[in-house]
This record gives sequence, structure tokens and C-alpha cells, in this order.
Amino acid sequence: MTVAENIDRIKAEIGTDVTLVAVSKVHPVDHIIKAYQAGHLDYGENKVQEMCEKAEVMPKDIRWHLIGHLQRNKVKYIVDFVHLIHSVDSLKLLKEIEKRAAKADRVIDCLLQVHIAEEDTRFGFDENEVGDLLADPALKEMTHIRIKGLMGMATFTEDQDQVRREFRSLKDRFERLKEKFRINERWQPEILSMGMSGDYQMAIEEGSNMVRIGSSIFGARNYD
Ligand SMILES: *Cc1c(COP(=O)(O)O)cnc(C)c1O
Repeated sequence: MTVAENIDRIKAEIGTDVTLVAVSKVHPVDHIIKAYQAGHLDYGENKVQEMCEKAEVMPKDIRWHLIGHLQRNKVKYIVDFVHLIHSVDSLKLLKEIEKRAAKADRVIDCLLQVHIAEEDTRFGFDENEVGDLLADPALKEMTHIRIKGLMGMATFTEDQDQVRREFRSLKDRFERLKEKFRINERWQPEILSMGMSGDYQMAIEEGSNMVRIGSSIFGARNYD
């Protein structure tokens, strides 16, 4: 199957209520351009430098999603073009995004990454910290960011029950935050980004409306 065929198949499967972010990390631009020519616009990258290099040579209407850990000193490189940052994991990072977005005269959409997996190597807020951030008065001043929802990654495990539990807990958390914090200019909770190649069906069953899929579209990644 070609990249474009894979995208069509997955889109048909997930339906129009779920956004597909095609995770193109490691794959060269000629693979991405084929998918673009077939009409797909949302692409996810986990490294700033790689995303910048690709964005530079790819059509400007592509929507670039940053899905990997973002260091504060690299925000400036993506601020002009990034579509959605999935991986905001601290107030400090959010402040830096605000500062750079103000300079670039943009409003940047962000997701708060929540730590739901058992592995402790993953980045993200602990559950309670998200509420603290949304309650933080500093947020009011951040007129160049918009928090559009949450992102999470389940534990990498064969244990399907555990994965489901983790997705469910993120969805519950999202619903509780929506009840607790009224919608305003900074907090517009619409997106729940969870699910990758191995677990997106389950993530959608548990309430995801944005999935980040790499290997099921582009094939296995060879890291050498
Ligand atoms: C690589 C990556 C994905 C996609 O993983 P696949 O298993 O290839 O679908 C999704 N989300 C994040 C944060 C990633 O780094």
C-alpha cells in the first residue's frame, strides 16, 4: 500500500470527527509530498530541527504539529509556522511560547501534555498540575496562546486493559477540567490528542478526537 492509500484507509476507519495527524518524523519529504498531493495537510514531527527543515521546502498550507518534547530555547524556530504544539509540559514553556508568539504577532494553539503512562521517562504534567496551570493568573496575560485541549501517551505495553485505563483517565480528566474551567480566550478545550499506530482504535473508543499515526502510514522507522 502507498502512503496515500494508507491515509485514505485510516481516514475512512476513524471517520470525519477524528483528526488524523500523519507522523512523518524520520521519513523524507518525498514521502510526505505524495500524501500532500493526495490531499492530506496535517503532519506531526517530534524534533524541532527536522520540522523546520521540512517546513522550509514543503508547501506552506501544510499544518505542522509538534508532538515531541519542546525545549524553551527552540520555540523561536517554530513560532512562525507551527499549527499546533501538542507537547506543552510546563508553565515556563508556555510563557516562552507566549513571548515568541507575541513577537511574531501570532496566536499559537497548544495542548497540555499529561503524563498518563506508568513509565516515568515520559514528559508531561501530572494530573493535578493541569488544573493548577489553568487556575494560574499568569495565564490571563498570555494573549498569544490558546490552550485547545490535552495530549497523552499510554504506556508501551501489551496489557490492553492498562492502555484503556490510561486513555479513560485522560478523557475523564479532560471532562472534569471542562466543567471546572469555563471557556475563555485562553482555554478552548476541543481537542483530545491520544492514540498512535498501535492503539488508536482504543483511544477513539475512549474519546480521542485527534490521533497521531506514523508507522501505519509511512511504514516502520529505521533509526540508524
Ligand atoms: C512517533 C510518535 C507517534 C507515532 O507513533 P507510531 O507508533 O509510529 O504511530 C505519535 N505520537 C508521538 C508523540 C510520537 O513521538
